[in-house]
Amino acid sequence: MTTLNSISGSAGSLSQFDPQALPVSAAQAIVLQWVTPLAQSERVPLRDALARVLARDVISPIDVPSHDNSAMDGYAFNSAALPAHAAPDGATLTLNVAGKAFAGHPYTGATAPGTCVRIMTGAPMPAGCDTVIPQERVERSGSTAGEEPAVDPVSAAVTESITFRADAVAPGANRRRKGEDLARGSAALRTGRVLHASDIGLMASLGVVDVAVKRRLRVAFFSTGDELRSPGEPLDAGCIYDSNRYTLGAMLRRLNVEPIDLGRVRDDPESLAATLKSAAESADVVLTSGGVSVGEADFTRSQLQTLGDVSFWGLAMRPGRPLAFGRIWSGGQPGAGRAALLFGLPGNPVATMVAFYQIVRPALIAMSGATPQPVPLIPARCDAPIRKRPGRTEFQRGIAGRDAQGQWHVTPTGSQSSGALSTMSEANCFIVLAHESADLDAGDAVDVMLFDGLV
Ligand code: AMP
Ligand code: MG
Repeated sequence: MTTLNSISGSAGSLSQFDPQALPVSAAQAIVLQWVTPLAQSERVPLRDALARVLARDVISPIDVPSHDNSAMDGYAFNSAALPAHAAPDGATLTLNVAGKAFAGHPYTGATAPGTCVRIMTGAPMPAGCDTVIPQERVERSGSTAGEEPAVDPVSAAVTESITFRADAVAPGANRRRKGEDLARGSAALRTGRVLHASDIGLMASLGVVDVAVKRRLRVAFFSTGDELRSPGEPLDAGCIYDSNRYTLGAMLRRLNVEPIDLGRVRDDPESLAATLKSAAESADVVLTSGGVSVGEADFTRSQLQTLGDVSFWGLAMRPGRPLAFGRIWSGGQPGAGRAALLFGLPGNPVATMVAFYQIVRPALIAMSGATPQPVPLIPARCDAPIRKRPGRTEFQRGIAGRDAQGQWHVTPTGSQSSGALSTMSEANCFIVLAHESADLDAGDAVDVMLFDGLV
Protein backbone atom coordinates (compact mmCIF):
# COMPACT_ATOMS: atom_id res chain seq x y z
CA MET A 1 0.00 0.00 0.00
CA THR A 2 1.22 3.50 -0.68
CA THR A 3 2.01 6.24 1.76
CA LEU A 4 -0.91 8.24 0.44
CA ASN A 5 -3.62 8.03 3.06
CA SER A 6 -6.59 9.19 1.06
CA ILE A 7 -7.73 8.06 -2.34
CA SER A 8 -9.93 11.06 -2.82
CA GLY A 9 -6.78 13.16 -2.60
CA SER A 10 -4.67 10.96 -4.83
CA ALA A 11 -5.82 12.14 -8.23
CA GLY A 12 -4.94 15.64 -7.16
CA SER A 13 -1.59 14.44 -5.88
CA LEU A 14 -0.73 13.64 -9.48
CA SER A 15 -1.22 17.33 -9.97
CA GLN A 16 -0.42 17.34 -13.65
CA PHE A 17 -3.79 15.64 -14.26
CA ASP A 18 -7.30 16.96 -14.17
CA PRO A 19 -9.37 14.36 -12.27
CA GLN A 20 -12.18 15.12 -14.68
CA ALA A 21 -10.01 14.24 -17.68
CA LEU A 22 -7.74 11.60 -16.20
CA PRO A 23 -5.69 9.73 -18.80
CA VAL A 24 -6.27 5.98 -18.73
CA SER A 25 -2.61 5.30 -17.91
CA ALA A 26 -2.74 7.68 -14.94
CA ALA A 27 -5.93 6.09 -13.63
CA GLN A 28 -4.36 2.63 -13.97
CA ALA A 29 -1.28 3.81 -12.08
CA ILE A 30 -3.26 5.40 -9.24
CA VAL A 31 -5.40 2.29 -8.86
CA LEU A 32 -2.35 0.03 -8.71
CA GLN A 33 -0.85 2.17 -5.94
CA TRP A 34 -3.78 1.16 -3.77
CA VAL A 35 -3.62 -2.53 -4.46
CA THR A 36 -2.11 -4.90 -1.91
CA PRO A 37 -1.56 -8.43 -3.21
CA LEU A 38 -3.36 -11.13 -1.25
CA ALA A 39 -1.21 -12.76 1.41
CA GLN A 40 -3.27 -15.88 2.14
CA SER A 41 -2.64 -19.11 0.29
CA GLU A 42 -4.03 -22.64 0.31
CA ARG A 43 -3.00 -26.02 -1.05
CA VAL A 44 -5.07 -27.53 -3.83
CA PRO A 45 -4.74 -30.82 -5.72
CA LEU A 46 -2.99 -30.45 -9.05
CA ARG A 47 -6.22 -31.02 -11.00
CA ASP A 48 -7.89 -28.04 -9.31
CA ALA A 49 -4.97 -25.67 -9.83
CA LEU A 50 -5.79 -24.49 -13.36
CA ALA A 51 -5.97 -20.66 -13.57
CA ARG A 52 -4.99 -20.30 -9.92
CA VAL A 53 -2.08 -18.05 -8.88
CA LEU A 54 1.03 -19.83 -7.68
CA ALA A 55 1.89 -18.80 -4.10
CA ARG A 56 5.39 -20.32 -3.99
CA ASP A 57 8.04 -21.22 -6.53
CA VAL A 58 7.80 -24.85 -7.63
CA ILE A 59 11.30 -26.32 -7.31
CA SER A 60 12.00 -29.39 -9.36
CA PRO A 61 12.77 -32.35 -7.06
CA ILE A 62 14.12 -34.39 -9.99
CA ASP A 63 15.87 -34.07 -13.30
CA VAL A 64 13.43 -34.05 -16.21
CA PRO A 65 14.06 -36.19 -18.12
CA SER A 66 15.59 -38.34 -15.42
CA HIS A 67 18.03 -39.99 -17.85
CA ASP A 68 19.55 -39.35 -21.25
CA ASN A 69 17.11 -40.83 -23.73
CA SER A 70 16.45 -41.22 -27.39
CA ALA A 71 14.52 -38.63 -29.39
CA MET A 72 13.90 -41.11 -32.24
CA ASP A 73 13.16 -44.71 -33.03
CA GLY A 74 16.50 -46.03 -34.28
CA TYR A 75 19.82 -47.41 -33.12
CA ALA A 76 22.00 -46.06 -30.32
CA PHE A 77 25.77 -46.30 -30.60
CA ASN A 78 28.98 -44.62 -29.52
CA SER A 79 29.95 -41.82 -31.88
CA ALA A 80 33.59 -42.89 -31.57
CA ALA A 81 32.58 -45.34 -34.30
CA LEU A 82 32.08 -42.45 -36.73
CA PRO A 83 35.04 -41.40 -38.83
CA ALA A 84 36.89 -38.50 -37.21
CA HIS A 85 37.28 -36.57 -40.47
CA ALA A 86 35.12 -36.12 -43.53
CA ALA A 87 34.75 -39.64 -44.81
CA PRO A 88 34.98 -40.34 -48.53
CA ASP A 89 31.60 -39.86 -50.18
CA GLY A 90 29.39 -42.87 -49.59
CA ALA A 91 31.54 -44.37 -46.80
CA THR A 92 29.38 -46.61 -44.66
CA LEU A 93 29.45 -48.02 -41.17
CA THR A 94 28.17 -51.41 -40.10
CA LEU A 95 27.25 -52.17 -36.48
CA ASN A 96 25.96 -55.31 -34.89
CA VAL A 97 22.75 -55.01 -32.90
CA ALA A 98 23.51 -56.07 -29.33
CA GLY A 99 20.06 -55.70 -27.81
CA LYS A 100 16.97 -53.55 -27.37
CA ALA A 101 16.00 -50.54 -25.26
CA PHE A 102 12.31 -49.67 -25.06
CA ALA A 103 10.71 -46.85 -23.05
CA GLY A 104 10.37 -48.26 -19.54
CA HIS A 105 12.64 -51.21 -20.45
CA PRO A 106 16.25 -50.05 -20.48
CA TYR A 107 19.09 -51.99 -22.05
CA THR A 108 21.42 -52.84 -19.21
CA GLY A 109 24.15 -54.71 -21.08
CA ALA A 110 27.44 -53.37 -22.31
CA THR A 111 27.94 -52.01 -25.82
CA ALA A 112 31.23 -53.17 -27.18
CA PRO A 113 32.90 -51.27 -30.02
CA GLY A 114 31.25 -52.15 -33.28
CA THR A 115 27.85 -52.71 -31.74
CA CYS A 116 24.66 -50.70 -31.32
CA VAL A 117 21.34 -51.04 -29.49
CA ARG A 118 17.91 -51.00 -31.09
CA ILE A 119 16.21 -48.08 -29.29
CA MET A 120 12.74 -46.55 -29.19
CA THR A 121 11.81 -42.93 -28.52
CA GLY A 122 12.05 -42.11 -24.82
CA ALA A 123 14.07 -45.20 -23.93
CA PRO A 124 17.15 -44.54 -21.76
CA MET A 125 20.41 -44.27 -23.67
CA PRO A 126 22.43 -47.43 -22.99
CA ALA A 127 25.73 -46.93 -21.17
CA GLY A 128 28.46 -45.97 -23.61
CA CYS A 129 26.06 -44.71 -26.29
CA ASP A 130 25.71 -41.04 -27.18
CA THR A 131 24.15 -40.98 -30.65
CA VAL A 132 21.01 -42.35 -32.29
CA ILE A 133 20.74 -43.05 -35.99
CA PRO A 134 17.06 -42.92 -37.02
CA GLN A 135 15.74 -46.25 -38.30
CA GLU A 136 14.80 -44.79 -41.71
CA ARG A 137 18.47 -44.14 -42.42
CA VAL A 138 19.77 -47.70 -41.95
CA GLU A 139 19.82 -50.84 -44.00
CA ARG A 140 19.11 -53.87 -41.87
CA SER A 141 20.44 -57.32 -42.48
CA GLY A 142 20.03 -60.56 -40.62
CA SER A 143 16.29 -60.13 -40.06
CA THR A 144 13.31 -59.75 -42.35
CA ALA A 145 12.81 -56.11 -43.25
CA GLY A 146 9.96 -54.57 -41.26
CA GLU A 147 10.29 -57.01 -38.39
CA GLU A 148 11.94 -56.36 -35.08
CA PRO A 149 15.52 -57.62 -34.99
CA ALA A 150 15.84 -61.20 -33.93
CA VAL A 151 17.86 -61.72 -30.77
CA ASP A 152 18.48 -65.24 -29.57
CA PRO A 153 16.49 -65.33 -26.29
CA VAL A 154 18.98 -67.65 -24.57
CA SER A 155 22.37 -66.33 -25.59
CA ALA A 156 21.23 -62.85 -26.64
CA ALA A 157 23.48 -63.53 -29.60
CA VAL A 158 23.27 -60.91 -32.28
CA THR A 159 21.49 -62.00 -35.37
CA GLU A 160 21.16 -58.58 -36.94
CA SER A 161 23.39 -55.78 -38.10
CA ILE A 162 22.75 -52.34 -39.56
CA THR A 163 24.61 -50.35 -42.18
CA PHE A 164 24.32 -46.63 -42.76
CA ARG A 165 26.19 -43.80 -44.43
CA ALA A 166 28.78 -42.40 -42.06
CA ASP A 167 27.65 -38.84 -42.85
CA ALA A 168 23.99 -39.64 -42.11
CA VAL A 169 24.26 -38.67 -38.45
CA ALA A 170 26.34 -36.22 -36.39
CA PRO A 171 27.94 -37.24 -33.07
CA GLY A 172 25.46 -36.74 -30.21
CA ALA A 173 22.45 -36.50 -32.53
CA ASN A 174 18.96 -37.48 -31.38
CA ARG A 175 19.90 -37.77 -27.74
CA ARG A 176 17.83 -35.89 -25.18
CA ARG A 177 19.93 -34.98 -22.18
CA LYS A 178 19.10 -35.77 -18.60
CA GLY A 179 17.74 -32.59 -16.95
CA GLU A 180 17.41 -30.89 -20.35
CA ASP A 181 13.78 -29.88 -19.68
CA LEU A 182 14.35 -29.09 -16.00
CA ALA A 183 17.38 -29.59 -13.80
CA ARG A 184 16.83 -30.87 -10.28
CA GLY A 185 16.74 -27.95 -7.78
CA SER A 186 15.83 -25.35 -10.39
CA ALA A 187 12.62 -23.30 -10.25
CA ALA A 188 10.15 -24.91 -12.61
CA LEU A 189 7.48 -22.24 -12.06
CA ARG A 190 7.64 -18.92 -10.28
CA THR A 191 5.40 -17.39 -7.62
CA GLY A 192 2.74 -15.23 -9.23
CA ARG A 193 2.34 -17.48 -12.24
CA VAL A 194 -1.27 -17.94 -13.35
CA LEU A 195 -1.28 -21.67 -13.99
CA HIS A 196 -1.88 -22.87 -17.53
CA ALA A 197 -2.62 -26.39 -18.75
CA SER A 198 1.07 -26.85 -19.57
CA ASP A 199 2.00 -25.91 -15.99
CA ILE A 200 -0.37 -28.51 -14.60
CA GLY A 201 1.34 -31.11 -16.81
CA LEU A 202 4.78 -29.78 -15.95
CA MET A 203 4.11 -30.16 -12.23
CA ALA A 204 2.77 -33.66 -12.85
CA SER A 205 6.03 -34.46 -14.67
CA LEU A 206 7.85 -33.54 -11.46
CA GLY A 207 5.66 -35.82 -9.38
CA VAL A 208 3.95 -32.87 -7.65
CA VAL A 209 0.68 -33.91 -5.95
CA ASP A 210 -0.69 -30.61 -4.69
CA VAL A 211 0.30 -27.01 -5.01
CA ALA A 212 0.29 -23.80 -2.94
CA VAL A 213 -1.90 -21.18 -4.59
CA LYS A 214 -3.22 -17.82 -3.46
CA ARG A 215 -6.72 -17.96 -2.12
CA ARG A 216 -9.22 -16.68 -4.66
CA LEU A 217 -10.00 -12.99 -4.58
CA ARG A 218 -13.60 -12.35 -3.46
CA VAL A 219 -15.33 -9.80 -5.63
CA ALA A 220 -18.84 -8.63 -4.77
CA PHE A 221 -20.90 -6.85 -7.38
CA PHE A 222 -24.36 -5.41 -7.80
CA SER A 223 -26.22 -3.16 -10.15
CA THR A 224 -28.13 -0.02 -9.28
CA GLY A 225 -31.13 1.54 -10.96
CA ASP A 226 -34.90 1.66 -10.42
CA GLU A 227 -35.35 1.01 -14.15
CA LEU A 228 -33.72 -2.42 -13.96
CA ARG A 229 -35.56 -5.73 -14.08
CA SER A 230 -33.99 -9.18 -13.92
CA PRO A 231 -34.42 -11.75 -16.68
CA GLY A 232 -37.52 -13.78 -15.82
CA GLU A 233 -39.43 -10.74 -14.57
CA PRO A 234 -41.94 -8.87 -16.75
CA LEU A 235 -40.52 -5.76 -18.36
CA ASP A 236 -42.61 -2.86 -17.06
CA ALA A 237 -43.01 0.27 -19.14
CA GLY A 238 -39.82 2.30 -19.25
CA CYS A 239 -37.76 -0.52 -17.76
CA ILE A 240 -34.78 -2.46 -19.12
CA TYR A 241 -33.29 -5.78 -18.24
CA ASP A 242 -30.23 -5.68 -16.01
CA SER A 243 -27.44 -6.93 -18.22
CA ASN A 244 -24.43 -5.52 -16.38
CA ARG A 245 -24.71 -7.87 -13.46
CA TYR A 246 -24.57 -10.81 -15.85
CA THR A 247 -21.70 -9.34 -17.83
CA LEU A 248 -19.78 -8.59 -14.63
CA GLY A 249 -20.41 -12.05 -13.19
CA ALA A 250 -19.18 -13.61 -16.44
CA MET A 251 -16.06 -11.42 -16.69
CA LEU A 252 -15.21 -12.21 -13.08
CA ARG A 253 -15.59 -15.93 -13.68
CA ARG A 254 -13.19 -15.66 -16.62
CA LEU A 255 -10.63 -14.09 -14.27
CA ASN A 256 -11.16 -17.00 -11.89
CA VAL A 257 -11.95 -14.81 -8.90
CA GLU A 258 -14.81 -15.74 -6.55
CA PRO A 259 -17.82 -13.71 -7.68
CA ILE A 260 -20.39 -12.67 -5.07
CA ASP A 261 -23.58 -11.53 -6.78
CA LEU A 262 -25.43 -9.13 -4.48
CA GLY A 263 -28.27 -8.59 -6.91
CA ARG A 264 -29.98 -5.46 -7.99
CA VAL A 265 -30.26 -2.47 -5.68
CA ARG A 266 -32.84 0.28 -5.96
CA ASP A 267 -31.85 3.93 -6.20
CA ASP A 268 -32.58 4.40 -2.54
CA PRO A 269 -30.00 5.53 0.05
CA GLU A 270 -30.82 2.93 2.75
CA SER A 271 -30.71 -0.10 0.46
CA LEU A 272 -27.49 1.15 -1.08
CA ALA A 273 -25.83 1.75 2.28
CA ALA A 274 -26.86 -1.66 3.56
CA THR A 275 -25.62 -3.43 0.42
CA LEU A 276 -22.30 -1.57 0.38
CA LYS A 277 -21.66 -2.36 4.05
CA SER A 278 -22.39 -6.06 3.66
CA ALA A 279 -20.29 -6.12 0.48
CA ALA A 280 -17.31 -4.69 2.38
CA GLU A 281 -17.89 -7.29 5.08
CA SER A 282 -17.58 -10.26 2.72
CA ALA A 283 -15.45 -9.14 -0.22
CA ASP A 284 -11.97 -7.89 -1.04
CA VAL A 285 -13.28 -5.79 -3.91
CA VAL A 286 -16.73 -4.35 -4.59
CA LEU A 287 -17.97 -3.44 -8.06
CA THR A 288 -21.10 -1.42 -8.64
CA SER A 289 -22.69 -0.54 -11.95
CA GLY A 290 -24.62 2.65 -12.61
CA GLY A 291 -25.17 5.80 -10.65
CA VAL A 292 -21.67 7.26 -10.86
CA SER A 293 -22.46 9.89 -13.43
CA VAL A 294 -24.27 12.97 -12.18
CA GLY A 295 -27.97 12.10 -12.29
CA GLU A 296 -30.82 13.27 -10.08
CA ALA A 297 -31.97 9.84 -8.99
CA ASP A 298 -28.50 8.43 -8.47
CA PHE A 299 -27.70 8.06 -4.78
CA THR A 300 -24.63 5.98 -5.35
CA ARG A 301 -22.27 8.95 -5.32
CA SER A 302 -23.51 10.42 -2.05
CA GLN A 303 -23.62 7.03 -0.32
CA LEU A 304 -20.11 6.16 -1.45
CA GLN A 305 -18.88 9.50 -0.19
CA THR A 306 -20.48 8.88 3.20
CA LEU A 307 -19.35 5.28 3.64
CA GLY A 308 -15.86 5.52 2.36
CA ASP A 309 -12.92 7.26 0.82
CA VAL A 310 -13.98 7.48 -2.78
CA SER A 311 -12.98 9.74 -5.62
CA PHE A 312 -15.12 10.37 -8.68
CA TRP A 313 -13.19 10.58 -11.85
CA GLY A 314 -13.92 11.58 -15.36
CA LEU A 315 -11.60 9.37 -17.34
CA ALA A 316 -10.19 10.62 -20.62
CA MET A 317 -11.58 7.45 -22.12
CA ARG A 318 -14.43 6.45 -24.38
CA PRO A 319 -16.59 4.67 -23.59
CA GLY A 320 -16.41 4.58 -19.80
CA ARG A 321 -15.86 8.17 -18.73
CA PRO A 322 -17.38 8.25 -15.22
CA LEU A 323 -15.67 6.04 -12.67
CA ALA A 324 -15.64 5.95 -8.90
CA PHE A 325 -12.62 4.50 -7.19
CA GLY A 326 -11.86 4.16 -3.53
CA ARG A 327 -12.36 2.15 -0.37
CA ILE A 328 -15.48 1.47 1.64
CA TRP A 329 -15.76 0.10 5.18
CA SER A 330 -18.22 -2.41 6.55
CA GLY A 331 -18.71 -0.21 9.64
CA GLY A 332 -20.25 2.51 7.52
CA GLN A 333 -17.48 5.10 7.85
CA PRO A 334 -13.81 5.35 6.93
CA GLY A 335 -11.70 3.19 9.22
CA ALA A 336 -14.64 1.32 10.79
CA GLY A 337 -14.67 -2.46 10.31
CA ARG A 338 -13.38 -4.24 7.26
CA ALA A 339 -12.22 -2.31 4.18
CA ALA A 340 -12.79 -3.28 0.56
CA LEU A 341 -11.58 -1.67 -2.60
CA LEU A 342 -14.41 -0.13 -4.58
CA PHE A 343 -14.94 0.47 -8.27
CA GLY A 344 -18.10 2.28 -9.28
CA LEU A 345 -18.51 1.47 -12.96
CA PRO A 346 -20.64 3.42 -15.41
CA GLY A 347 -24.10 2.03 -16.16
CA ASN A 348 -23.92 1.92 -19.93
CA PRO A 349 -23.29 -1.73 -20.78
CA VAL A 350 -20.29 -1.27 -23.10
CA ALA A 351 -18.82 1.36 -20.79
CA THR A 352 -19.09 -1.14 -17.91
CA MET A 353 -17.10 -3.68 -19.90
CA VAL A 354 -14.44 -1.26 -21.12
CA ALA A 355 -13.92 0.16 -17.63
CA PHE A 356 -13.73 -3.37 -16.26
CA TYR A 357 -11.12 -4.52 -18.78
CA GLN A 358 -9.00 -1.38 -18.72
CA ILE A 359 -9.14 -0.34 -15.07
CA VAL A 360 -10.55 -3.11 -12.88
CA ARG A 361 -8.94 -6.15 -14.49
CA PRO A 362 -5.30 -5.06 -13.98
CA ALA A 363 -6.14 -4.25 -10.35
CA LEU A 364 -7.80 -7.64 -9.74
CA ILE A 365 -4.84 -9.43 -11.33
CA ALA A 366 -2.35 -7.57 -9.14
CA MET A 367 -4.48 -8.09 -6.05
CA SER A 368 -4.77 -11.82 -6.78
CA GLY A 369 -1.00 -11.98 -6.40
CA ALA A 370 -0.47 -12.67 -10.09
CA THR A 371 2.47 -11.23 -11.97
CA PRO A 372 0.86 -8.82 -14.44
CA GLN A 373 1.31 -9.70 -18.11
CA PRO A 374 0.84 -6.92 -20.64
CA VAL A 375 -2.08 -7.48 -22.98
CA PRO A 376 -0.63 -7.76 -26.50
CA LEU A 377 -1.46 -5.01 -28.98
CA ILE A 378 -1.43 -6.01 -32.62
CA PRO A 379 -0.62 -3.39 -35.26
CA ALA A 380 -3.33 -3.38 -37.92
CA ARG A 381 -4.55 -1.32 -40.83
CA CYS A 382 -7.94 0.24 -40.26
CA ASP A 383 -10.15 -0.37 -43.28
CA ALA A 384 -12.51 2.54 -42.60
CA PRO A 385 -12.05 6.16 -41.54
CA ILE A 386 -12.58 6.84 -37.83
CA ARG A 387 -13.49 10.12 -36.18
CA LYS A 388 -11.40 10.61 -33.07
CA ARG A 389 -10.79 13.61 -30.85
CA PRO A 390 -7.28 13.96 -29.39
CA GLY A 391 -7.11 13.95 -25.60
CA ARG A 392 -8.82 10.67 -24.75
CA THR A 393 -8.18 6.99 -25.32
CA GLU A 394 -10.92 5.26 -27.28
CA PHE A 395 -11.76 1.60 -27.29
CA GLN A 396 -13.85 1.08 -30.38
CA ARG A 397 -15.27 -2.31 -31.17
CA GLY A 398 -13.80 -3.91 -34.27
CA ILE A 399 -13.54 -7.03 -36.33
CA ALA A 400 -9.93 -7.92 -37.02
CA GLY A 401 -8.33 -10.52 -39.23
CA ARG A 402 -5.24 -11.22 -41.31
CA ASP A 403 -5.11 -11.02 -45.08
CA ALA A 404 -3.33 -13.47 -47.39
CA GLN A 405 -0.09 -11.45 -47.08
CA GLY A 406 -0.19 -11.72 -43.29
CA GLN A 407 -1.18 -8.08 -42.75
CA TRP A 408 -3.74 -7.48 -39.97
CA HIS A 409 -6.79 -5.42 -40.87
CA VAL A 410 -9.62 -4.16 -38.71
CA THR A 411 -13.06 -2.73 -39.43
CA PRO A 412 -15.07 -0.97 -36.72
CA THR A 413 -18.42 -2.57 -35.96
CA GLY A 414 -21.11 -0.19 -37.13
CA SER A 415 -22.46 1.49 -34.03
CA GLN A 416 -20.06 2.64 -31.35
CA SER A 417 -22.83 3.45 -28.88
CA SER A 418 -21.79 2.77 -25.31
CA GLY A 419 -25.22 1.27 -24.74
CA ALA A 420 -25.13 -1.25 -27.59
CA LEU A 421 -23.85 -4.48 -26.10
CA SER A 422 -24.41 -6.21 -29.42
CA THR A 423 -21.34 -4.38 -30.74
CA MET A 424 -19.24 -6.23 -28.16
CA SER A 425 -20.70 -9.56 -29.20
CA GLU A 426 -20.18 -8.80 -32.87
CA ALA A 427 -16.59 -7.60 -32.36
CA ASN A 428 -13.51 -9.73 -31.80
CA CYS A 429 -11.25 -6.90 -30.63
CA PHE A 430 -10.95 -3.40 -29.29
CA ILE A 431 -9.48 -0.87 -31.70
CA VAL A 432 -7.29 1.10 -29.32
CA LEU A 433 -7.06 4.73 -30.37
CA ALA A 434 -4.25 6.34 -28.40
CA HIS A 435 -4.83 9.37 -26.17
CA GLU A 436 -3.19 11.86 -28.51
CA SER A 437 -4.40 10.43 -31.84
CA ALA A 438 -6.80 12.37 -34.08
CA ASP A 439 -9.10 11.42 -36.99
CA LEU A 440 -7.97 8.43 -39.00
CA ASP A 441 -8.23 7.80 -42.73
CA ALA A 442 -8.94 4.40 -44.18
CA GLY A 443 -5.64 2.51 -44.36
CA ASP A 444 -4.10 4.22 -41.32
CA ALA A 445 -2.28 2.17 -38.69
CA VAL A 446 -4.05 1.34 -35.40
CA ASP A 447 -3.49 -1.10 -32.56
CA VAL A 448 -5.98 -3.83 -31.81
CA MET A 449 -6.47 -5.79 -28.60
CA LEU A 450 -7.91 -9.20 -29.40
CA PHE A 451 -10.65 -10.55 -27.16
CA ASP A 452 -9.63 -14.21 -27.33
CA GLY A 453 -6.32 -15.96 -26.89
CA LEU A 454 -5.27 -19.59 -27.30
CA VAL A 455 -4.77 -20.81 -23.79
P1 AMP B 1 -26.42 5.42 -14.91
O1 AMP B 1 -24.92 5.40 -14.90
O2 AMP B 1 -27.01 4.78 -13.74
O3 AMP B 1 -26.91 6.81 -15.16
O4 AMP B 1 -26.83 4.55 -16.18
C1 AMP B 1 -26.43 4.90 -17.50
C2 AMP B 1 -27.23 4.10 -18.50
O5 AMP B 1 -26.93 2.72 -18.34
C3 AMP B 1 -28.73 4.21 -18.35
O6 AMP B 1 -29.32 4.21 -19.62
C4 AMP B 1 -29.10 2.96 -17.59
O7 AMP B 1 -30.42 2.57 -17.82
C5 AMP B 1 -28.12 1.97 -18.14
N1 AMP B 1 -27.86 0.93 -17.15
C6 AMP B 1 -27.52 1.15 -15.85
N2 AMP B 1 -27.35 -0.01 -15.21
C7 AMP B 1 -27.59 -0.99 -16.11
C8 AMP B 1 -27.59 -2.40 -16.04
N3 AMP B 1 -27.30 -3.04 -14.90
N4 AMP B 1 -27.88 -3.11 -17.16
C9 AMP B 1 -28.16 -2.46 -18.29
N5 AMP B 1 -28.18 -1.13 -18.44
C10 AMP B 1 -27.90 -0.39 -17.35
MG1 MG C 1 -28.76 4.69 -12.74
